Amino acid sequence: MMLQEVDILIVGAGISGLMAAEKLKENSDKTVLLIDKSRSPGGRLATRRIEQGKFDHGAQFFTVRSNIFKEKVQKWVEQGWVFPWFSKEHPRYASVNGMNQLAKHLAHSHKVEYNLLAETVAVQENGDYVVTMRDLMNNTSRSIRAKSIIMTCPTPQVLQILQRSQYEIDQEDFQQLADVSYTNCLTLLLSMKDDFALQNEYLYEPVPGVIAWIADNRQKGISQESSVTVHLDPQWSITHFEKSDTEILKEIMPHLQVVFADRTEWDIPYQVKRWRYAQAYNLIKAPYLDVNPHHPFVICGDAFSSIKGDVASKIENAALSGIYTADYLSKEKCVL
Ligand SMILES: Cc1cc2nc3c(=O)[nH]c(=O)nc-3n(C[C@H](O)[C@H](O)[C@H](O)COP(=O)(O)OP(=O)(O)OC[C@H]3O[C@@H](n4cnc5c(N)ncnc54)[C@H](O)[C@@H]3O)c2cc1C
Repeated sequence: MMLQEVDILIVGAGISGLMAAEKLKENSDKTVLLIDKSRSPGGRLATRRIEQGKFDHGAQFFTVRSNIFKEKVQKWVEQGWVFPWFSKEHPRYASVNGMNQLAKHLAHSHKVEYNLLAETVAVQENGDYVVTMRDLMNNTSRSIRAKSIIMTCPTPQVLQILQRSQYEIDQEDFQQLADVSYTNCLTLLLSMKDDFALQNEYLYEPVPGVIAWIADNRQKGISQESSVTVHLDPQWSITHFEKSDTEILKEIMPHLQVVFADRTEWDIPYQVKRWRYAQAYNLIKAPYLDVNPHHPFVICGDAFSSIKGDVASKIENAALSGIYTADYLSKEKCVL
């Protein structure tokens, strides 16, 4: 088994992992490696193609409330990476060419290895960690030794890794992680194949209890072809999660016919994406959790919120969690 060595290993190249990597790079010359089980960065910043159509099928936009995030986003606007999409209580931004493109821009200046699924963590006698992982491309095992770990996956996945590793953490920490819940989200991607346009760029809760959000990706400016993303209601998603794609479409069709009043052509390409961990709630009211007082093993991500009044997780609190984790490693743990 190969044993690679790094100073800091970040598990997960979603927004929290990427922001942590960026901040670590600003603060030090330590070796930082991000790994992700997927083929590309972004996690829930997800964009997919069906033929010529492009769909944002995870987060649709992000809010900006804190000054730290505002500064970051301002830079991204100047770089032409994101644009203000619409405004409610706070401005909402989307990413040029799809939400996943922002993650690709951010990942560009870091070392990231994909198709690596972290499976176990063990502490060595000298306090270093060894993380074993499965290379999903060729189904082989790999191990990486790291002085510190940052784990950014949804908390049920973190707990699975800890359990599999028989890695014991403080009961209070365990309980906080276990108490975080996630909404399910079934998402329909409809490739309209004609000049279809929604009456607006997006519709919020057009069918309460069934359809939570519809976005027209062409009007949003990310797709050449007419392509529509339909996020189904969290409760509806739970009760229909295990149904087949055809069953889901069949049940949603009568509602779509009402929303898309004048449409008759429904023989169109479509896909269903099942998000088991969409947005977190019962958030941990802290920016991160270090589960080992001796050698940093920091859990962060969208389950953590330092913004007062946050109910469900957002890109902003995930990003802040990553930034605060990197600050913690450099300032409090002096590992940088
Ligand atoms: C349908 C949907 C709609 C949403 N809408 C909005 C919205 O409008 N506005 C908003 O602000 N937020 C929204 N969100 C929430 C937002 O997308 C998330 O809160 C945020 O992106 C989470 O970022 P993260 O880095 O914490 O986690 P993730 O993006 O989940 O990143 C974690 C990464 O870890 C990887 N990973 C997991 N387990 C392992 C493992 N064992 N080994 C290696 N890698 C692993 C995953 O592949 C993933 O890339 C939405 C989410 C969904 C799904």
